[in-house]
Parts: sequence; structure tokens; C-alpha cells
Amino acid sequence: MINSKDTNENDLMDKIVSLCKRRGFVFQGSEIYGGLAGTYDWGHYGVALKNNIKQNWWKKFVDGRRDIYGIDAAILMNRKVWETSGHVAGFVDPMEDGKQFNVMFKTQIGAGDEAVVSYLRPETAQGMFVNFKNIVDAFHPKLPFGTAQIGKAFRNEIAPRDFIFRQREFEQMEIEYFIRANDWEKYFEYWKSEMLEWMEEVGLDMAKVRELEIPKENRAHYSSRTIDFEFDYPFGRKELFGLAYRTDFDLKNHKLEYVDEVPTSEGTGIPIESKVIIPHVIEPTFGVDRAILALLLSAYTEDKQGGEIRSYLKFKPNIAPVICAVSPLLKNKKELVEYANIKVYAPLKEEFGRVAWDDNGNIGKRYRRQDEIGTPFCIVIDFDTLTDNTVTVRDRDTGEQERVKVSDLQNYIKEKI
Ligand code: ATP
Repeated sequence: MINSKDTNENDLMDKIVSLCKRRGFVFQGSEIYGGLAGTYDWGHYGVALKNNIKQNWWKKFVDGRRDIYGIDAAILMNRKVWETSGHVAGFVDPMEDGKQFNVMFKTQIGAGDEAVVSYLRPETAQGMFVNFKNIVDAFHPKLPFGTAQIGKAFRNEIAPRDFIFRQREFEQMEIEYFIRANDWEKYFEYWKSEMLEWMEEVGLDMAKVRELEIPKENRAHYSSRTIDFEFDYPFGRKELFGLAYRTDFDLKNHKLEYVDEVPTSEGTGIPIESKVIIPHVIEPTFGVDRAILALLLSAYTEDKQGGEIRSYLKFKPNIAPVICAVSPLLKNKKELVEYANIKVYAPLKEEFGRVAWDDNGNIGKRYRRQDEIGTPFCIVIDFDTLTDNTVTVRDRDTGEQERVKVSDLQNYIKEKI
């Protein structure tokens, strides 16, 4: 029997998927050829949303700190990386008949007899571990320090499903934070709270986020402690992000070391003792696509306006794909269109970039469309504008409108983001 909760929850996923297609966020991959399971293509607003999420993450965890170094490593890596990391032997999922299936995509590099086997990376982490020495030699960082990377990962998932939740090609944002072995518990707690803070900052519904301690038998081969941050999706409570203590597993296997300079007497900084050690690693990992799905589910809201049900995405202004939409009241009135284009749209577009021009259909329709995109402000140029140089600015959440001077528009928006 389907109870009403199930119906609503299934409805919600259907609504999100169709909104994403209708409004140009996410399309099924290879759709006109019947699709390719586990792949999705991102439209204009989906890309904008994804970029905002990634930039926000990078700003907090790389640009906003002194101890984390960015990396953009190749997706294709020497096969030995995956043998050494344990992925060739152990990155497996059980199939229905009990056999183990390695979920890495195998590929050939080079032609003919010269061809060698490699894999599309199933995680971005290894690209950071194998560059450990390069980072140390180039930047001379002192422990604790980290590396961060955003990039694609590929897994031949046995059962891709639930829209962008489980795909075969997806994107990760990962940090490898190198520490002294004794400090692992302290930094594990520290990164747990940093992760929670970021989730809240971007606007996830924190009432739907749960921590799950993963028991030993379910942890990845490299981890001695893992916490999953789970999210209450309509299809159940499932993993959103993860936090793992990877010990010195990876650096040890890759035979990478670090010369640690330890002050011998507390506080003085001297004399210094040098020791060769293998740093341990705390790894906060974030799936971009799951972040977007959780964000869409957190932001999706329905209410009644003007006696009609409307749906909108209640994104924070700094995350919304469009910060404001500019509309001439009537699209066939030349003076309105010119004013809107030259005096309002052009300068706002130049300042914020994420600005939409919308003159399609009547004003009510435009508001509904921008609500579904999650645009916080709709600016309308009407006949009064031509005489008093003010426009109406409509607030997405309340539907309230106020008149703002054209010359104040940029500051008005800046104050809200
Ligand atoms: P699951 O148990 O759901 O398969 P996992 O534990 O294998 O996930 P990790 O190896 O911890 O996932 O990967 C790190 C992050 O990458 C996850 O927290 C998730 O956000 C994201 N991720 C993993 N697999 C996928 C996938 N198939 N599609 C989209 N995102 C994924």
C-alpha cells in the first residue's frame, strides 16, 4: 500500500526532476538517443548553480585559509597509482549473485601493441596524494596543511538511480588534510564542524542532515574512522558527504615522506629537531551533485500567491543561479525596452554577471518562471520609470514589491548578497 507520505515524497522527486528539465538546470545524458544510464548534462542554470557551489567551497576552504593548496590533477593516471592505492584489488561492490565487481572504468591508453590499461579515476584523492612531494617541494608547508581539488570522478555503478544522486560520472570536492598521527582525533572533530558549517552556509536544510558513524566492516579499505553525513532525500536517508581518517595508508603505500621540524621546548620554537615521518590524513569529501540535489530539495517551496499555488526555489542570493531578472513591462514598447536594456540590464549584467533578461509572456508568467529558477529579485521597468527613474523590485519569497531608484539598484542588491 502506498501511504500518503510516500506519494508526497515521490511527487517531490518528480517535481524536482521536471523543474530541472523545464527550467534548464539538468537534462538526462544523451537524451535524444534514449539516454545513457547514470549520466546527466547540465544546462545554463545548472552550471551556474554548480559553479556557485564550487566557488563558495573553494573560497571557504582554499582562498579563505593559509594552509590549503589547490590542485587540478589529470583524470587519467598511471595504472600503478590504482594498484598501489588498493583500488584495483578492493574498490568493489557486491553484485546480486554475490560476486564482487570492480567499479572502476577500465580504459586503454595508447594504440596497438603500445597500449596500456588504465582507469578513469574513481576519486579525486589519489591525484592529491601522488603530488604530495611536489606540494612540499614547491611550497614548503608546515604540518598541519592540506590540499584541495574539485573534479570529475567515474564509477561504473551497478545500479545508477535517483536522478543525480547515484551517477556513473560525477564531481567531487575533496580535501586531504595532513597531520601528525597523534592529532587525528582533534582534526577529525575540527573538520566535522567545518563541514557542517559549510552545509549551513550554502543553505542546506540542516534538520535533514544526520551524522552516521560507519562500523569497521562497512568502511572503505583505507579508513580507520568514517562518518557519513546523511541527508533525508525523498527516497530515504542516504549519504550526502563523508569524513574519513585515512591514517598514513596512502602516503605509506606511495612511499612518500615528510621532514617534520618539531620545536623541542614548548613555545620557544627553538631548538628544532628534524624527524622523517609519514603524515596522517583526514579527508573531508563532498559530492558536488549530491550537494546540488540536497540544495534543490532544501530550497523547493510551495505556497499560495494570488489564490494560486506557486513553486519556487528559495536559494540564498549568493547561491542562486540568477541574482536578478530585468523585465520591461511590455515588450513591444520601444521606450520601455530601450530603457530596460541600456539603463538597467547592461550595468547590472556588467556588475553581477548572473542577470537574466526576461520579456517573455505577461508579468505574472515571468514571475512564476523566475520563482522556479530561484531568482531573488525581479526588476520591472514600467511607464513611471520613464519619468521618475525608479523601478519595481519584487522579492521572490514574499512577493512584495518596492520602488527603487535606478541609481540605487546595484547597492540595493549588494546589500542583500
Ligand atoms: P555510496 O555509499 O552512496 O556509494 P560512497 O561511500 O561510495 O557512496 P565515497 O567513496 O565516500 O562515496 O565518495 C565521496 C562522495 O562522492 C560521496 O559522499 C558522494 O557525495 C559522492 N559520490 C560517490 N558516489 C557517487 C555517485 N555514484 N554519484 C554521485 N555522487 C557520488
